[in-house]
Amino acid sequence: MALKFYNTMAKKKQVFRPLRKGEVRLYNCGPTVYDYAHIGNFRAYVFADILRRYIEWKGYRVLQVMNLTDVGHMTMDDVADSTGEDKIEKKAREEKKDPWQISSFYAGAFFEDIKKLNIKPAMAYPKATEHVKEMIKLAEKLIKNGHAYVSNNSVYFDVTSFPEYGKLSGNTLKNLKAGAGGRVEDNPDKRGPFDFALWVHNPRHTMQWDSPWGRGYPGWHIECSVMSIKMLGETLDIHTGGEDNIFPHHDCEIAQSEGATGKTFVRYWMHTRHLLVEGKKMSKSLGNFFTLRDLLKKGNDPTAIRYLLLSAHYRTKLNFTEKGLKAASNTLNKIRAFVQDMASHKPPGPVKGSRIDGIIRDTRENFEKAMDDDLGISDALSAIFSLITRVNRERDAGRLSREDAGKAYGFMIDIDRVLGLGLDELPMGSGVPDEIMLMANEREQLRKEKNFGEADKIRDAIKKKGFVVEDTPGGPMVRKAR
Ligand code: AMP
Ligand code: ZN
Repeated sequence: MALKFYNTMAKKKQVFRPLRKGEVRLYNCGPTVYDYAHIGNFRAYVFADILRRYIEWKGYRVLQVMNLTDVGHMTMDDVADSTGEDKIEKKAREEKKDPWQISSFYAGAFFEDIKKLNIKPAMAYPKATEHVKEMIKLAEKLIKNGHAYVSNNSVYFDVTSFPEYGKLSGNTLKNLKAGAGGRVEDNPDKRGPFDFALWVHNPRHTMQWDSPWGRGYPGWHIECSVMSIKMLGETLDIHTGGEDNIFPHHDCEIAQSEGATGKTFVRYWMHTRHLLVEGKKMSKSLGNFFTLRDLLKKGNDPTAIRYLLLSAHYRTKLNFTEKGLKAASNTLNKIRAFVQDMASHKPPGPVKGSRIDGIIRDTRENFEKAMDDDLGISDALSAIFSLITRVNRERDAGRLSREDAGKAYGFMIDIDRVLGLGLDELPMGSGVPDEIMLMANEREQLRKEKNFGEADKIRDAIKKKGFVVEDTPGGPMVRKAR
């Protein structure tokens, strides 16, 4: 089966063919570094990571770039002509710091967080403030070819000059005029209400650069057009973001990029649905968010958070609950226990009638078929659980040799190149059965709830079955009693 992705532009699944043979150029809208990212943001980045990992698993070379927005992202970013206050400057004012301190601090925090979530580093993380010259150049080009105009020391994109404006979201000028796309602020400097800023003149802004139009700062959308084209070329294979990026951010990126180059900007647009809390988008403005740090402080395992975020298909809304996280943690521990068991499975003597090759072949086929279909993670994970059940059945029936277990182990490690659960880093040789792992998880949960009496009872029960739980800085470890 061919690899297919749902393309937001085509509004359907399409067979994926990169522009250059064997190579995929991938751009992800990255964080605005004014605060710690919340796990809703991380849903978008874990998705980008799984996408990249799967494309690599399929044998392509991936050139991945993720931007860091450190200027120009306004608080009202969901309207056609983003207005309000620059998020970084607002935070700087609140914390009585300068904006540069804010962005460098939170960029550092972002890198620490993605490491904890085992997100592979991109090839580059360009910062908007390091590409202002190129943004001015692109704005000049758009003025020259009639797509943009200067007004009162600012530069605006004239959306009527780009008839396809709104083609990604469906917020075309006609629809916008009919009331789609939300409110817009009256701005007498603009020719049309839906024109958006490429360059902003505002003497009150702290971060300012010289330009042919006087001192000012770049608009948010032009940053992504400039940095993606500079690093990956005029046509990208895949551009990702959360669903809130579709309009206006990505429609504006298209207008600027295609207006300047005359070429298709992006071949496949892929957008993650939101992570929700009680049915509402997890967001800073609603105050219903959890940062990764909040959850880790409560003793949660970062890999369980990764597992939770990746285990729902990226185009379904995912409701975040502590219960869901606990279930993810239990499932992850089952997978870990299986991998550890396979690594330490050393039955004496040969075994007859091995079925391992067939089991692995079926699983690989099912996994790949599911993932090829727009990263169908649920079916892909089901294939893995089915392998675990089947292999355990073989083990219990005495039909699993040491070599067979090695094959199952190798397969899981290979699949983990896509899932990124750190299965190759597990302490080996524990041979802890699922039943014991589940008891240990239960105990851990009780400890988190400060129910130490019940937790100790479970520890004793585990001991009676011949296993020891040790609390280490990396979390509880279970091993056979010596
Ligand atoms: P920001 O830092 O606000 O620019 O957002 C960074 C990325 O996170 C963007 O791609 C957003 O679309 C995405 N995002 C924001 N909130 C959520 C959410 N609740 N669920 C999934 N993705 C989100
Ligand atoms: Zn962007």
